[in-house]
Amino acid sequence: MLAVLGPAGPALADPAAPLLRPDDPGVLRGESVFETVRIAAGRPAFLDRHLARLWRSADRLALTLPDGWEALCALAVDTWPEPDGVLRLVCSRGGTAYALVTAVPAETVAGREQGVRAVTLSLGGPAAARADAPWLLGGVKSTSYAVNMAALREASTAGAQDVVFLSSDAQVLEAPTSTAAWVTAGLLVTPPPDGVGILRGTTMEVLLELCDELEVPYEVRGGAASELLEADEVLLASSVRGVAPVVALDGRELGCGPVTGRLRAAFERRVQAD
Ligand code: PLP
Repeated sequence: MLAVLGPAGPALADPAAPLLRPDDPGVLRGESVFETVRIAAGRPAFLDRHLARLWRSADRLALTLPDGWEALCALAVDTWPEPDGVLRLVCSRGGTAYALVTAVPAETVAGREQGVRAVTLSLGGPAAARADAPWLLGGVKSTSYAVNMAALREASTAGAQDVVFLSSDAQVLEAPTSTAAWVTAGLLVTPPPDGVGILRGTTMEVLLELCDELEVPYEVRGGAASELLEADEVLLASSVRGVAPVVALDGRELGCGPVTGRLRAAFERRVQAD
């Protein structure tokens, strides 16, 4: 299901028909911004947070967004016949803006319910690099995700479904499409988005609110790879998959721990109620 945001407002379009111009810098050079939003109970979950991040990403790319995203999302979601789905919002530098709705892949649900095996991979630079050099676009949700996809392919050669990126100075960063956190002796730790130049995850924002409600202690701070590798629990947080327990990291079996399990259940309740 496709809805396009044109000068006259949003309108439904044929998802099988061509949409982007071949000379759009979004196509040629990955200069587009995007968001991936979970549709649950027939509503786009945490849409305000996603739209705020879309505008922040566009600002960092000096890309002008058209108005009308709320109406675009409403049209797309209201037309989608299922209660669950994936809503992708995209705006290219060439000015094409659209909302695409698809079904939630079975492997996404499996990742949430059964967990994922993950490996650590280096992103090649020190933790401060992206925070100190804004042109590296750390923390920007642009469609230049080829590196992230290549990392996932690398993981699959080791029989894993996901990756935790480390810096060259052995700090924990993020995952290719999710925010990382770990639990040691009941304390949840997740890296600071601005401090290490990673994406500010909407799911992690909600999880930290849930930590307050559930009285789970947490710290938002940098963490050494050794902390992650020795943690009792590791989890990956992202909009559509929600909370995915890392059941094995670099071959060390972990399973789904109690804090991860509580947060996953609380997040699923929150997402249905949002
Ligand atoms: N980090 C990266 C690099 C991502 O691509 C994503 C998801 O899109 C996230 C973190 C998690 O963000 P969110 O929880 O808003 O889906």
